[in-house]
Amino acid sequence: MANTLFLVPSPIGNLSEVSPRIKETLSSVSFIACEDTRNTQKLLSLIGIKKSCVSCHEHNEKNESEKIIARVLNGEDCAYMSDAGFPCISDPGFLLVKECIKNNIKVVPLSGPNAALLALVGSGLDTDHFLFYGFLDSKTNKKEAEIAGFLNFPYTIILYEAPHRINETIASLYKVLGDRKIVIVRELTKMYEEFIRSSLKELAENPREYKGELVLVLEGNKTLNEDNKIDNEILQKAKELEKLGYSKKDASAILATLFKLNKNQIYKELIK
Ligand code: SAM
Repeated sequence: MANTLFLVPSPIGNLSEVSPRIKETLSSVSFIACEDTRNTQKLLSLIGIKKSCVSCHEHNEKNESEKIIARVLNGEDCAYMSDAGFPCISDPGFLLVKECIKNNIKVVPLSGPNAALLALVGSGLDTDHFLFYGFLDSKTNKKEAEIAGFLNFPYTIILYEAPHRINETIASLYKVLGDRKIVIVRELTKMYEEFIRSSLKELAENPREYKGELVLVLEGNKTLNEDNKIDNEILQKAKELEKLGYSKKDASAILATLFKLNKNQIYKELIK
């Protein structure tokens, strides 16, 4: 009978984020597959677990996935770990998960640290809807073409970036999108964790050195919402929703999503 693939997040800085459930899972599985056996073995020895590891990273994921799946189908349980945070999030693991599902192997993700979500919730920017984009292309022309795709996106955007590229990326973001709020989040869960709350203009005009691991949390296109006036048609639709039993708040939220408007603006018009 097929066993289970556990997706196990690794700490992104703070070792205390290895939960009791993570420890139990790592202790109980038959083997661990991981992005880098040296890094995972280091972590295992810090948390007092002795277990064999096989390597499965972006360059051998296809072949290694087949071997891992054969072992799991043969009755073993496997935990997969990347070097930091969640497997599959700007990290290997997706191919393995896809193949496990194809082979009817149960996939169990464990909770734990992820840089994108920690950065988002601490940023103070809208959390109602958001896009996690991960890394932009490193070549400027491709990067700017990707950024142009955000022009009409009204919600918060989360990007990963390396410290040696961040000033260049901020310059590209400002060039293509104009001014917007941005929060640079450094060294999450570590001693020098920092949230730099600023604007693209301010940061583009004052490049500086950013050390450590970084997440960029960028405001969505707010002018899109402001420019779209709340016209009578929208108010009429809101009233119809109210007649159907929706509260003003819910009607505003529904119409905001459908017509890409600002829900607070609709609500303000409704209570006028
Ligand atoms: N799988 C990871 C996750 O779930 O967040 C992401 C791995 S990706 C290869 C590495 C990138 O994540 C870094 O370049 C940085 O953008 C972000 N990151 C990882 N650890 C971080 C930390 N402690 N503080 C801020 N950003 C971090």
